[in-house]
Amino acid sequence: MIKLRACRVCKRVTEEQKCHGDTVLEWKGYIYILNPEKSIIAKKAGINQVGEYAIKVR
Ligand SMILES: [Zn+2]
Repeated sequence: MIKLRACRVCKRVTEEQKCHGDTVLEWKGYIYILNPEKSIIAKKAGINQVGEYAIKVR
């Protein structure tokens, strides 16, 4: 099983070791942003791109 990581900078969930910065294995909460412009969660988290994100990244 592949352990998913999350980017410290943009919070995107990824399998890569690096995204905008280092990615970490310690993250909590998973959200899939389908419509960033209409999503309150996306606005709160500062997300403006479609994708999978972690709510909390350590
Ligand atoms: Zn990133």
